[in-house]
Amino acid sequence: MTATTQTIQTNPTNRPVRTRIAPSPTGFPHVGTAYIALFNLAFAKAHGGEFILRIEDTDQTRSTAQSEQMILDALRWVGLDWAEGPDKGGEFAPYRQSERGDIYKKYANELLEKGHAFRCFCTPEELDAMRAEQMARGENPHYDGRYAELSREESDKLAESGKPFVIRMKVPSEGECVFNDLLRGEVRIPWEQVDMQVLLKTDGMPTYHLANVVDDHLMQITHVIRGEEWINSAPKHQLLYEYFGWDMPVLCHMPLLRNPDKSKLSKRKNPTSITYYRDAGVLPEALLNYLGRMGYSMPDEAEKFSLDEMIESFDITRVSLGGPIFDTEKLYWLNAEYLRELSPEALKNKILDWANDSDKLTAIATAIQPRIELLSDAVNWAGFYFQNMPNITAEDFAHKSLEQEQIIEILQIAIWKLETLQTWDKEGIYQTLKGLGEAMDVKLRDLTQPFFVAIAGSTSATPIMDAMATIGADMTLNRLRHAVDVLGGLGKKKLKKLEKRADEMGDFV
Ligand code: GLU
Repeated sequence: MTATTQTIQTNPTNRPVRTRIAPSPTGFPHVGTAYIALFNLAFAKAHGGEFILRIEDTDQTRSTAQSEQMILDALRWVGLDWAEGPDKGGEFAPYRQSERGDIYKKYANELLEKGHAFRCFCTPEELDAMRAEQMARGENPHYDGRYAELSREESDKLAESGKPFVIRMKVPSEGECVFNDLLRGEVRIPWEQVDMQVLLKTDGMPTYHLANVVDDHLMQITHVIRGEEWINSAPKHQLLYEYFGWDMPVLCHMPLLRNPDKSKLSKRKNPTSITYYRDAGVLPEALLNYLGRMGYSMPDEAEKFSLDEMIESFDITRVSLGGPIFDTEKLYWLNAEYLRELSPEALKNKILDWANDSDKLTAIATAIQPRIELLSDAVNWAGFYFQNMPNITAEDFAHKSLEQEQIIEILQIAIWKLETLQTWDKEGIYQTLKGLGEAMDVKLRDLTQPFFVAIAGSTSATPIMDAMATIGADMTLNRLRHAVDVLGGLGKKKLKKLEKRADEMGDFV
């Protein structure tokens, strides 16, 4: 990919600006989603336009209603609001892609009719063999176009015979795709690097590429501001706009957030969930302010600013492409600035608001009721539910039958398995730990002890699996990751071996 910078008009379309955030509900609410949403909202508002929310849940095996709810709640909590969305409706409803199946089918068929797309009848085995042969020849694996030139009659005949197929788009084999990016100027990507993308899957569901382009067009999106990881998808999208005869929105790929060591922001090195920061006690306005400084600087270089102030002077071309570092310490420093300027009365209210989660408080009351004699005992029993990381050392994990090495392994595998839970509840947590105990031949009683230390900071606490359910997935997983660190962590080699072992154990839920 090559890029040359040149001045690009920020709104050459002259249509009312409409931007969107299009999260896939496949996990916890990521700070990267709030970051991209913030820049979309600021851009739209600065141009007097609208910012909308669309749920991209075409991957039905990974999308969950719980994740969608968490993402919506987290974005709202941080102070980013949308004008149209699945919860609000709007002129272009529905805003959930799983409810728009017929629309995508219609457009996939249109491309088929026009000869811009074709049915591919390859079986998964055939595709695997194709890739294996290409790799043996030292080529990058790609679709070799074997069904692209099949005559229409033959293709129809095969489809009528009931042979399963996907619909793929045709892609030029030579030359390069040239498109403009608001921050990068002209970007060139050779067509040979672009695969004949599947648009409609065997089950009739669209892939991201088709659904995304069709929806951005139908929802009259003028500017697509999204993470840099999508830049290689732009040629496919540009081609689809061309095939349909539609104007392409202006593209703007934002730099990726990074860990302090410059690697791509990952939960292994840094908490990445908005919910985690909320539970740890970061103020939404501080988190939003911090995200607003990722790759961006205010014209007056101010470090502390509100969303309104950001919108007032917003200029997307001030985004710099050097990878912005998301550093929790700096975020906490900024949060402290916000806390210090509050009156004691206002701070008191913030603390009460933060702790006042009725479901959580009821769950805590249920857990501590059999253990307290005085209301004041609640402070001892309930403290860890509100903490960030418990104050622990490796010695706290001392165990009568488990070695430290084993404890690290148990905690690490538990993290991987718990991360895959589709619904975070006591039953899922219990099945995971029970399965893990069986797979590692450790009694559940022995196995849970390190979890008491990691989560509650002590082996005497309220039942730990209930507590994990109550404090939530993000806080639980971060405490477990912290425990692994406190115990000295795992080297790369050991981690690889352990990962294999964990895979072999299969799913516990
Ligand atoms: N659903 C995609 C995501 O999860 C949206 C990418 C885009 O904005 O085009 O990030």
